[in-house]
Amino acid sequence: MTSREYKRIQDPTKEILNRYLSEYPVRLGHLAKELGVSIKVSSMSTGVSGQITREDGHYLIRVNRHEARERQRFTIAHELAHFLLHKSVIDSSPDGIKDNVLYRSGEPERIEYEANRLAADIVMPMALVQKVLQEEFDGVVTEATIESLAARFQVSKAAMEIRLSTFAEV
Ligand SMILES: [Zn+2]
Repeated sequence: MTSREYKRIQDPTKEILNRYLSEYPVRLGHLAKELGVSIKVSSMSTGVSGQITREDGHYLIRVNRHEARERQRFTIAHELAHFLLHKSVIDSSPDGIKDNVLYRSGEPERIEYEANRLAADIVMPMALVQKVLQEEFDGVVTEATIESLAARFQVSKAAMEIRLSTFAEV
């Protein structure tokens, strides 16, 4: 149903997450705040999508202001996933983890796969996507369905298409 990364998250944090994953569009700003993470929309170099650092004991996500809003949402979720899964990696460098447009950071690929899977769980909670798909579209995936779901969850059409294609695997 959900990724193994999601299952790895400890209970008190999972309870916070679960509260946010029951409504769309998932309120990422509030979620980050409740997890103790700040978000700053920043001017970043072209080719950089986002970064998470620890500064003065506080976690901060920067997201590139020049990218589309849907893209920024996925980036925030990706950085939050690093926060939830890879704190020691963030803490080990003053630059934390900095992701390029392919969500590659120079860290091992495994770390990026994990962050992408958990990010998808956060912005497109499977149970909620399936519920809307069943209740409002009779479970039928068409171009129009994908577009409508993408708009509701405020993600790109491409991201929603990938998400829906994983139904067969879960
Ligand atoms: Zn990353």
